[in-house]
Amino acid sequence: MTNVLVVEDDPAIGSELTDALSDYGYETALAADGETALDLALRATPDLVLLDLGLPDVDGVSLCRRLRSAMPYAVIVVLTARTQEFEVVVALEAGADDYLTKPFRLTELLARLRAHLRRQTVPADPRSSMSVGRVRLDLAARRAYVAGTEVMLRPKEFDLLSVLVRRAGEVVTREQLMEEVWDANWFGPTKTLDVHVFALRRKLTEEGEDPRRITTLRGRGYRYETDL
Ligand code: CA
Repeated sequence: MTNVLVVEDDPAIGSELTDALSDYGYETALAADGETALDLALRATPDLVLLDLGLPDVDGVSLCRRLRSAMPYAVIVVLTARTQEFEVVVALEAGADDYLTKPFRLTELLARLRAHLRRQTVPADPRSSMSVGRVRLDLAARRAYVAGTEVMLRPKEFDLLSVLVRRAGEVVTREQLMEEVWDANWFGPTKTLDVHVFALRRKLTEEGEDPRRITTLRGRGYRYETDL
C-alpha cells in the first residue's frame, strides 16, 4: 500500500484530496500545519508528500527542507498558487521533486503521482557502470563519483545524470528528459528540469568536474560533453 501525506491547511481542499486518493487505493494522512506534517512524516513514513506551500504556521519552503532531511527517499510534490512561482524554484532547491500549480485537475495529479511512484521501482540499467570525464556512475548501487569521491545526489538528480551520461555527446531535448526522468507527458515550460540540472552541475563542479561538462542549449535541451 502506498502512503501519501497531504499537507494542506484549507480543510475543503485537504479532504477533497485525501478522499480522492483513498478512492484510488492510496493510504492517506492529512496534516493542516507544519508541526503535524513533520510528526506524521516521522511516524507514518509516507512514500509521497503533497505539500501546500502556503501554510499558516510555517514557511512552506523551510518545511520542505525539513521534510526532505527527515525522509531522504520520499517523493515531495509541492502545490503552489500561480502567484508563488518564485517559491517553486526555491522549494525545488530545498528538496522538492516536482510541483503542481493550483488549480489542477485531479486526473493530472493522479498521473503525476503514478509516474513518480513507478519511477522509484524502475530496475537499474543492466550495465553496472558508466563513466565520462571525471564522473562515474554505479547504476546498480545508484551512486555517483567524481574522480573517485562520492557525490550525494537526490534520486531525480541521479536519474537525470544517468540519462545525460548514457547519451553523452548527443543533444537530449527537454521533452526527452522530462519523459525519461519524470515520466511526464506534458511538454509545457517547467522549472523542475532547470533547477535539477543547476543543482547537478553545482554538485559535480564542487567535486572537481569541469562546469562546461553539461552544456545548456537554450529552449532545446542539454548535452553532456565527451571532449573538453
Ligand atoms: Ca494554503
